[in-house]
Amino acid sequence: MSSKVIVTIFGASGDLAKRKLYPSLFRLYKSGNLSEHFAVIGTARRPWSKEYFESVVVESILDLADSTEQAQEFANHFYYQSHDVNDTEHYIALRQLQVELNDKYQAEHNKLFFLSMAPQFFGTIAKHLKSENIVDGKGFERLIVEKPFGTDYATASKLNDELLATFDEEQIFRIDHYLGKEMIQSIFAVRFANLIFENVWNKDFIDNVQITFAERLGVEERGGYYDQSGALRDMVQNHTLQLLSLLAMDKPASFTKDEIRAEKIKVFKNLYHPTDEELKEHFIRGQYRSGKIDGMKYISYRSEPNVNPESTTETFASGAFFVDSDRFRGVPFFFRTGKRLTEKGTHVNIVFKQMDSIFGEPLAPNILTIYIQPTEGFSLSLNGKQVGEEFNLAPN
Ligand code: NAD
Repeated sequence: MSSKVIVTIFGASGDLAKRKLYPSLFRLYKSGNLSEHFAVIGTARRPWSKEYFESVVVESILDLADSTEQAQEFANHFYYQSHDVNDTEHYIALRQLQVELNDKYQAEHNKLFFLSMAPQFFGTIAKHLKSENIVDGKGFERLIVEKPFGTDYATASKLNDELLATFDEEQIFRIDHYLGKEMIQSIFAVRFANLIFENVWNKDFIDNVQITFAERLGVEERGGYYDQSGALRDMVQNHTLQLLSLLAMDKPASFTKDEIRAEKIKVFKNLYHPTDEELKEHFIRGQYRSGKIDGMKYISYRSEPNVNPESTTETFASGAFFVDSDRFRGVPFFFRTGKRLTEKGTHVNIVFKQMDSIFGEPLAPNILTIYIQPTEGFSLSLNGKQVGEEFNLAPN
């Protein structure tokens, strides 16, 4: 199905737009999911020309394109409007361009707004989109925002109110790009399309779950952003909890977004709130120091560019969540995430309980591992007999 739509990207000169949004739009274009009836308006502070913007877009997708001509054809659909989000005049110009492009591309008034900017701007943009009649109730109208969605409960609620003043809940898409990863989507298939797991996916059979997001890299050039965020906000409250909800939820009545959302919300409502004492005991924060990995020397977090030399921001976080549901009461969902670790990779281990042994030695637990990144796939460790004269068990 191909879509008719005018996409407006706020923050079109930024990193997210170049590294993720243009390539994603291009993939849709290449697979025929974007028809000829689409245009993209890029807005940002810099005074770029259409030609220059096109060249930025072409550069960002060149390795995905079959030819330079194909990349250029795609980029022809891109228009640029220099814009300061606080300046009402700029929204008037934006509306004019929106209307022109809607007519030119016969986009049936369908509009998609992607806010690829810091969240402090979201409220202002949403307000102006309504007051300047850019959002006018014609065609479909959607708003997409990326993380971070505020910095705590109060700021997230405020942001919600600001967006809901212009858009209805079903028009707002709060994106966690991690959930687009193949293996994360595959969790649904593993859980709900395999009888052997369906009946054992609960506290009677699962001992614990371990979610690991390990990076070997340090903060690289993202020190300025990361120092304000830290591992808990960057990885845990979003990606880890989303993953946890997919692992812990009950079976949705159907494979639809509303049913899945309802089951995920139940998991979050059932998340156990630890006491201050339990927090101290079950949760750990850490920060990387200088050192060597495989003979390579690395500087400490505090010495990284754009990081406060006395920063107490955590680059490592670990702990255990409990979901107080009939399915998982008492089962720890351990997580660990960090930068500059000795191993790299994202995976989930589902560690099953083990039965009594008749072999005179304790049995290793069965473990279902879901490899998410960079390796993708599953493995299930089962106890077998080691090859040889003796009867020795070994997991494989
Ligand atoms: P960036 O700093 O590279 O880009 C910000 C964009 O906003 C630029 O185009 C800039 O011109 C524009 N801008 C800033 N102030 C403006 C103003 N007053 N008026 C008009 N335009 C203005 O940031 P980014 O890395 O592209 O990230 C954008 C958002 O997405 C941030 O909230 C970030 O946390 C989030 N995010 C980024 C990534 C990523 O991989 N870069 C991943 C997840 C989430």
